[in-house]
Amino acid sequence: MEHPCLRCGACCAHYRVAFHWSEAEAFLGGTTPADLTEKLDAHRLAMRGTQAYAPRCIALQGEVGQAAHCGIYARRPSPCRELQPAWERGEPSPQCDRARAAHGLPPLTPETWIDPTGPGLSPLPRSA
Ligand code: SF4
Ligand code: SF4
Repeated sequence: MEHPCLRCGACCAHYRVAFHWSEAEAFLGGTTPADLTEKLDAHRLAMRGTQAYAPRCIALQGEVGQAAHCGIYARRPSPCRELQPAWERGEPSPQCDRARAAHGLPPLTPETWIDPTGPGLSPLPRSA
């Protein structure tokens, strides 16, 4: 099953993504590319593009709602790691829902995560 986030990217084009500056300092173990960040205040950086009126993270590749992915996935900052897609782990995610709604996308549901090709029970096709 293709991961739903790969057809979305809405959260990367809706929120300001802010985090402690140390996340972009390699000598402190930070991994986020510093050149893709900008200073927010004395303690925080933001991903470039996410402070705009119509935010879009500079690292987002592709088109929201069609095919989108993070260009620095393994090195993305903590807010991106913490934002959970709704129902992926059996829990709602208002942040995911809000970002998708802002881009005209329906919320994910528990059924989103049922892989008809995977193990376990799958919904039966409904007759008309
Ligand atoms: S809004 Fe939700 S589904 Fe879309 S990319 Fe973000 S976490 Fe994934
Ligand atoms: S760093 Fe990646 S996951 Fe985080 S907002 Fe930007 S594109 Fe999205």
